[in-house]
Amino acid sequence: MKATIDSLENVKTAEEAERSLHEYLALLADIKNSGVDSQVSLKLTHMGLALSMDLARKNTEKIVQKAAELGNFVRIDMEGSAFTQATIDVFHGLREKYPNVGVAIQSALRRSEDDARRIAASGGSIRLVKGAYKEPPSIAFADKKDVDRSFERIMKELLITPTRPAIATHDEKLINEAQRFAEEKGVPKGSFDFEMLLGIKRTLQKRLSVEGYTVRVYVPYGRDWLPYTLRRLRERKENVWFVLKNILD
Ligand SMILES: Cc1cc2nc3c(=O)[nH]c(=O)nc-3n(C[C@H](O)[C@H](O)[C@H](O)COP(=O)(O)OP(=O)(O)OC[C@H]3O[C@@H](n4cnc5c(N)ncnc54)[C@H](O)[C@@H]3O)c2cc1C
Repeated sequence: MKATIDSLENVKTAEEAERSLHEYLALLADIKNSGVDSQVSLKLTHMGLALSMDLARKNTEKIVQKAAELGNFVRIDMEGSAFTQATIDVFHGLREKYPNVGVAIQSALRRSEDDARRIAASGGSIRLVKGAYKEPPSIAFADKKDVDRSFERIMKELLITPTRPAIATHDEKLINEAQRFAEEKGVPKGSFDFEMLLGIKRTLQKRLSVEGYTVRVYVPYGRDWLPYTLRRLRERKENVWFVLKNILD
């Protein structure tokens, strides 16, 4: 199994964004030196996006550039809808110069099918997720079934592109469908990733890996990991139960 490591630091100032930048540069060097098979994931707000788009772009470019030198890859996480367009814009700007950058897209948002199509058409790699943020029904599907249907539609479009998509879900129905669809279309097992959170559905992670799929485990760390986790739990109260149940799975 492979990994993607995400440093979670609460960033409110340009100095904190700079610290976050240096954390990633050190992280990339550590990954190289240790030989761990891991990419990095980052949030643009941790690069200063809430302060200035230009600051976030410049900081992120330094990380993507360093990753390119080291033969590594940077995935830009997708955050709340206030940052969707800015995240996609920063991603496109970087992708024009560097092939080693990808972005996450949330199936919960109504706009995402179009976004995903455009990004994939330009060759960009997408991590498809359902979406971790509560969004208003005007821009997001309110019904979970619609979020899942949207995920399945986008997933199928991405799987037949040569963009190395990452199917990031613990939803076994969707994972089974990804496997079935890929087989039906002759998509090689090694041409896409399954991504899951560290410690969640470990039996499933192992099974997919044994079956020859690439499983990438998302590993968050840093001073903000506890507030981050608590926010995720508060946003979706059912997660508290999932955590307890799946920690043993
Ligand atoms: C690798 C990775 C990267 C991500 N990056 C982003 C991102 O950039 N932006 C973003 O908005 N969201 C991101 N997410 C979160 C994502 O949007 C979902 O909120 C989260 O993955 C839960 O949805 P699900 O697809 O697993 O499906 P769900 O329908 O929520 O869950 C399916 C099943 O998985 C299990 N499960 C799901 N979540 C948990 C949990 N927390 N603990 C224990 N069991 C669980 C349960 O058994 C559940 O029935 C990421 C998720 C992963 C796996």
